[in-house]
Amino acid sequence: MIMISACLIGVRCRYDGNEVPNEDLVELFKQGRAIPICPEVLGGLDIPRASCEMVQREGVRSILNQKGEDCTAQFNEGARISTEIALAAGVKHAILKSKSPSCGCGKIYDGTFSKCLIDGNGVTAEAFMANGIKVWNEENYIEWLK
Ligand code: SF4
Repeated sequence: MIMISACLIGVRCRYDGNEVPNEDLVELFKQGRAIPICPEVLGGLDIPRASCEMVQREGVRSILNQKGEDCTAQFNEGARISTEIALAAGVKHAILKSKSPSCGCGKIYDGTFSKCLIDGNGVTAEAFMANGIKVWNEENYIEWLK
């Protein structure tokens, strides 16, 4: 079983409440091969919500929204719950939305809300990797499944 970011199959859980499905991944879900999760909603955040980015200051990582509110606790809780579900379901691979402060793997936004990317992982992607789950995104998973 594959764990997948719920927004990638069109669930309206994104910060802006929009529906942005990836049709190939919707098909994967319809085939019964994927479990959708949204760590930010599982952590208690609303839909819609102010967008968030990860900020690193003096070695301390925080997740702030555009209003400057600290959402680190909700992101950590979402990662914890998502990881618990993944491990209980025996998930070995996840396809997570790129660039997100929860789901991004390899590149995330830099905390300035200016669309700049830096090297790094979202909170849930990092928790998955720490627990032996291989994380792909909506572009590079094709290399694995082909
Ligand atoms: Fe939820 Fe992850 Fe999609 Fe953000 S990227 S809406 S946390 S599933």
